Amino acid sequence: MPSSPKSGFATRAIHHGYDPMEHNGALVPPVYMTSTFAFPDAATGGQRFAGEGKGYIYTRLGNPTLNLLENRLAVLEGGEAALVTSSGMGAITSALWTLVQPGDEVIVDKTLYGCTFSFLRHGLARFGVTVTHVDLTDGAALDAALSAKTRVVYFESPANPNMRVVDIAAVSVAAHRVGALVMVDNTYCTPLLQRPLELGADLVVHSATKYLGGHGDLTAGAVIGGVELLGRIRMVGLKDMTGAVLSAADANLILRGLKTLELRMERHCATARLAADLIAAHPAVKTVHFPGLPSHPQHAVAKRQMSDFGGMIAFELHDGYSGGLRFMDALRLVTRAVSLGDAETLVQHPASMTHSTYSPEERAMYGISDGLVRLSIGLETPADLLADLSQALDHALSHAGIVVGHCS
Ligand SMILES: *Cc1c(COP(=O)(O)O)cnc(C)c1O
Repeated sequence: MPSSPKSGFATRAIHHGYDPMEHNGALVPPVYMTSTFAFPDAATGGQRFAGEGKGYIYTRLGNPTLNLLENRLAVLEGGEAALVTSSGMGAITSALWTLVQPGDEVIVDKTLYGCTFSFLRHGLARFGVTVTHVDLTDGAALDAALSAKTRVVYFESPANPNMRVVDIAAVSVAAHRVGALVMVDNTYCTPLLQRPLELGADLVVHSATKYLGGHGDLTAGAVIGGVELLGRIRMVGLKDMTGAVLSAADANLILRGLKTLELRMERHCATARLAADLIAAHPAVKTVHFPGLPSHPQHAVAKRQMSDFGGMIAFELHDGYSGGLRFMDALRLVTRAVSLGDAETLVQHPASMTHSTYSPEERAMYGISDGLVRLSIGLETPADLLADLSQALDHALSHAGIVVGHCS
């Protein structure tokens, strides 16, 4: 094999688990576009179903293209095993359905991606699982909430959309004291910037739709962790409960995306630092949420557990919601769209878009303010992007206080 677990990040992302000499010299791994796999004889088929001996059965249970991607993601996250799924929500639900049963409790942070929040609150909670929101940046609050009923502690760091940063090592120590598993959504960071398993977490989930794919042309997810847990998530959560199997064609695109992950993340991070400084200095802006700014409340934790601060920025203008909409509509280069981690810089308004699954009261309670605007910094020429942000902020400021509406 051209790469070993000791090789650098990019080397593993490009080479791990594949040797062209085993595949007729093909530089790029062949894509196994097949639903099922032939058995040489009936007895072998029976043996494979019994879990004896190697060999593929059916793509929902395993496929060489998916397995190559799984092995690559596992080695990048520092996990023993991985499982890929057809979306980030497919990964999150496959894992949680496997781990909980009626009577269990799941402790989650106050801020979560909108559909994760909605799955917990409107999905899992209907099946006798208690979902408790705790401010996981507050160690005493977590200690008070943890009990023998707690099965999983689940959070994002930085959290979507308001960039709260949770101390992964501290939460892991506390959760493990009561025997709970720690599950971290690492979508915002990718394994290049942050590796929760090395900090003590038990499972990592990703929306591979975002930075891992990196090009906005697919939806996918992944779960990474220990081999025993991952075996159960594959055979229960994925196989029986969600069926959220990834297509080999999309796995192939993620394998392609991973080759440039390090390069892309470096550029996302560098431009985001410039954009955060520009936004923070603009008179139209009230608050900026970016873990790289010394003013961020968990800046010290972010510096400790992330190797860089990522490409996501959230901020609020002085005149809140209406200012945010004026800013968004004045942008010329930045694209108004949800999702993140693409080459294109994207802007969206969480309260009316990705986090509209929360009620207004829930948004207020969980710290997602109505004026918040979320930016996913892309890979455009930094000067062009900064110029667009700057003119749209100027526009929002020069029109501040002018009420535009059908009654005026
Ligand atoms: C997008 C996203 C998800 C959901 O992933 P899908 O691929 O859209 O299903 C989960 N968590 C975070 C942090 C996300 O940004």
